[in-house]
Amino acid sequence: MRICPRGHHCPRTAQYCAECGSADLSTPAPPASLLYRISGAVLYGLAGAALAALLLAAVLSALSQVDWHALSGPLVGLLLMLGVLYWTTTLLPGPVKKLGRAAGRQAMKSMRKNKRP
Ligand SMILES: [Zn+2]
Repeated sequence: MRICPRGHHCPRTAQYCAECGSADLSTPAPPASLLYRISGAVLYGLAGAALAALLLAAVLSALSQVDWHALSGPLVGLLLMLGVLYWTTTLLPGPVKKLGRAAGRQAMKSMRKNKRP
């Protein structure tokens, strides 16, 4: 809601007052956009928490699979875990995906550094 100097109420997206044409409208109140931002952050947090839980479950199941398949080869479990990890990355939202890729690159770098001291 925006209010012109003469007290007319205009929609928050209005550039000019619809009744007197004044361009000197008050700045719209922030609550709506702030609420959107908060709900967005909450959604992101929930998605992150769900993802973390999913990853934890995947890792735990993979670990139990490794124990169970210890004789037939831990590679099966490892491949399964990698597959699940890859599958979860396809569900990630863009920014998180980028972050994951950056983390992966960092891990690769540190691994290379460890190999060549
Ligand atoms: Zn007006």
